[in-house]
Amino acid sequence: MSGDAHLTEQYGSPLYVYDLQRAVAARDDLYAALPEGTVLYYSFKANPHPEIARALREGDGPVCKAEISSTGELAAAITAGFDPAEILYTGPGKTGEEVAAALDAGVRTFSAESLGDLRRIGRAADERGVTADCLLRVNSAGTGATTSIRMTGTPSQFGFDSETLPAVMPELRAVPGVRLAGMHLFSLSNARDEDSLIAEFEHTIAAAAEVRDAVGLEPELLDLGGGFASPYLTPGERPVYPNLRAALEKTLDGRFPGWRDGAPRIACESGRYLAGDCGRLVCTVTNIKESRGRRFVILDAGINTLGGMSGLGRLLPVSVGLAPDPVPADGRAEDGVASLVGPLCTPGDTFGHNVSVPDLRPGDVVTIPNAGAYGLTASLLMFLGRPAPTEVITRGDQVVSASRIGFDRIPR
Ligand SMILES: *Cc1c(COP(=O)(O)O)cnc(C)c1O
Repeated sequence: MSGDAHLTEQYGSPLYVYDLQRAVAARDDLYAALPEGTVLYYSFKANPHPEIARALREGDGPVCKAEISSTGELAAAITAGFDPAEILYTGPGKTGEEVAAALDAGVRTFSAESLGDLRRIGRAADERGVTADCLLRVNSAGTGATTSIRMTGTPSQFGFDSETLPAVMPELRAVPGVRLAGMHLFSLSNARDEDSLIAEFEHTIAAAAEVRDAVGLEPELLDLGGGFASPYLTPGERPVYPNLRAALEKTLDGRFPGWRDGAPRIACESGRYLAGDCGRLVCTVTNIKESRGRRFVILDAGINTLGGMSGLGRLLPVSVGLAPDPVPADGRAEDGVASLVGPLCTPGDTFGHNVSVPDLRPGDVVTIPNAGAYGLTASLLMFLGRPAPTEVITRGDQVVSASRIGFDRIPR
């Protein structure tokens, strides 16, 4: 029996399994690819599991700070041991209560996305007799590379439009309780390749320099965002970025000559690169059926467990592999194609049609790779009320902990 089948025997199915060693390796690789002295924020959105966050926070070399966007992520970050002074709080719709909870916990750095957002942060800080350091999130007018998920250059709920920022600057400067400490630009996720990533960062650095010159805001902290890629639910290796560091250092030298002395300090953010390849989803085939010539493989994990965004009409190119791997030659046929579906009572609970799968049987334990980021956290956990999957933390082959968030208590 394979390791994964052993795990389901012990902890049930479905299961998320996260290997902390892989998360730490991703962090160390990414730091090695970034300009000297860069601060790397871990975006809790990708996976708020406190043990993953804790592993990213601990180490002998440079470690991660936390980028959060809700009171729940604040709790996860504090549980993971982050000093609130190391936390960056972002998001276009922060409520007064959320800001207050963050300030009371000791968070002092916020990304402000609009005048109303800045005023709300300032009001809560003022009431507490403290000052919040705010990065102005800038939605730059131009565009750099072509990317997977673009978040700037178009009308957006995120950030200040760069072209109208000079006009609102006097109002921003007049907000009590805040200090304008820098800029935050986050323009893409999951860059296609290293060249697009570099082109996007070059554009971002140029845009930040233009804003500095246009509004006279000399940033102490310049958060350049991210875009670092990772395979998602399909086999594949995390990319390496051998040319990124030199390219970014050169661009920064041209636009922000003081950066090597920490003026500004440079920051980046990542969720998927740090957490993506540390996790896999292990689940079980509950049923196989044929319908009108099509084969359906029904898993005990669906959009309630993984990538609930597929419920919004986006089919994910999910890949399943039979555990143990390679598939044993116990009389199984060749790989075939099937519709890969979950257990929920909605046709939306479909991972894909014509997915290439091994010759599966009910009871087979299968693994979906590279599910550490945007897995459970992006799933429709409440939908149809199935229990949450257990999350198993490992260090290599060693199980460190197993836990389950849940709402499945049966009243007695
Ligand atoms: C989602 C998000 C991230 C993380 O994106 P990844 O693609 O997971 O690296 C970072 N920063 C901000 C502001 C985000 O909204």
